[in-house]
Amino acid sequence: MTAPRRVAVVGGGIIGLATAFRAQHRFPDAAVTVFEKEPEVGRHQSGNNSGVLHCGLYYKPGSLKAKLAVTGIRGMIAFCQEHSIRHEVCGKLVVAVTKDEVPRLEELYKRGTANGLQGLQWLGPEQMREIEPNVAGVAAVRVPEEGIADYKAVCRALAGMVREVRTGTRVTGLRRDGLEWRIETPMGERSADLLINCAGLYCDRVAEMAGVPRDTRIVPFRGEYFQLREQSRGLVKHLIYPVPDPAFPFLGVHFTRMIQGGVECGPNAVLAFAREGYRKSVIRPAELFDAISYPGLWAFLRRYPSMTWYELRRSFSRSLFVESLQRLVPAVQETDLAPGGAGVRAQALTVAGDLVQDFDFRFQPGAIHVLNAPSPGATASLAIADEILERVRDVS
Ligand SMILES: Cc1cc2nc3c(=O)[nH]c(=O)nc-3n(C[C@H](O)[C@H](O)[C@H](O)COP(=O)(O)OP(=O)(O)OC[C@H]3O[C@@H](n4cnc5c(N)ncnc54)[C@H](O)[C@@H]3O)c2cc1C
Repeated sequence: MTAPRRVAVVGGGIIGLATAFRAQHRFPDAAVTVFEKEPEVGRHQSGNNSGVLHCGLYYKPGSLKAKLAVTGIRGMIAFCQEHSIRHEVCGKLVVAVTKDEVPRLEELYKRGTANGLQGLQWLGPEQMREIEPNVAGVAAVRVPEEGIADYKAVCRALAGMVREVRTGTRVTGLRRDGLEWRIETPMGERSADLLINCAGLYCDRVAEMAGVPRDTRIVPFRGEYFQLREQSRGLVKHLIYPVPDPAFPFLGVHFTRMIQGGVECGPNAVLAFAREGYRKSVIRPAELFDAISYPGLWAFLRRYPSMTWYELRRSFSRSLFVESLQRLVPAVQETDLAPGGAGVRAQALTVAGDLVQDFDFRFQPGAIHVLNAPSPGATASLAIADEILERVRDVS
């Protein structure tokens, strides 16, 4: 497709809004519309995350995540500067707590270097404690390019610049009609010659409406947070992360200074009983059935039984949560913690039980579907948008 005339973006999260914003620049004559089911933008993953600017330390060189996190963080910082959005490039420490973790930390250092990160530093225990006096561990990598940002404000700024954002408008059906898409909503039907699906936790469902088979499925993993009480916030100065388990795409519980003030600790990773289930008590039977009837979920649980069991127990036990935090900052006590929020990750899972590691885009005539865009999707959103729009020529 050369230049679409009407572009429809499903989903007013940070990726849908960034895509619509960039599409207006790339196709200045096109009418671009974002359809968002909630009364405001950024209500789901984009407004319930750790707020970290990640720049590609973790990701396999050559992967889309590596490429788009590195270009994305620079684009996101420039966007925040240009639009006076609160952000801070405060740097992050990734800490090897025991000697066994040092080879994995070395691997991360190599990955970061291969991915083009600048200024990475290898630190011993004393150097670590000059930056974070309360941290424990035998070695750390400091990533000076990383930081924190107000992604909700990024969503609002993007939405303010997109010509048409239809909030409160759920897309309920999609039909191909000649060279056009018919987009059904409770308020009536609209048409578009380019459809971009950025529906986050419902991206596989929206893709299915357009006729894409669900060969991967979103399995919602809730991440629950605590926060440090005001008098304990001094325990953490910047961002402190563990060395992640390479078999698992989640980064492990960490300490994050938030741009609006305060320090969050978490998140864990437990199966949510609803795609937008931010509390344990939220259960949507059809969505729960969809997850538990998927062979991919059972294959995943069989592969990681002890990790799954541990995450579940930790979700109910503050003392286990504190134990995980104490690995990084031994001085943290249960009394330092107050309940925090939660987010739900839109993580695609294959039928064989593999968590899809990289960003995943699927193409159809006149349509592009974003089928896996977990962390660092917020950091990389502007770069993801450019990548999507680069591929428009392939979907005629
Ligand atoms: C716990 C957690 C921590 C994270 N931490 C970080 C971090 O520190 N740094 C980072 O870079 N990334 C982080 N991420 C990842 C990041 O938040 C996501 O990659 C990013 O927000 C994805 O944006 P999105 O627009 O695809 O999804 P979303 O923000 O979920 O937006 C999708 C939108 O689609 C809408 N929608 C769905 N179905 C329909 C429909 N039928 N019709 C109309 N609208 C529909 C939804 O209402 C929603 O607003 C984290 C994620 C989680 C959950």
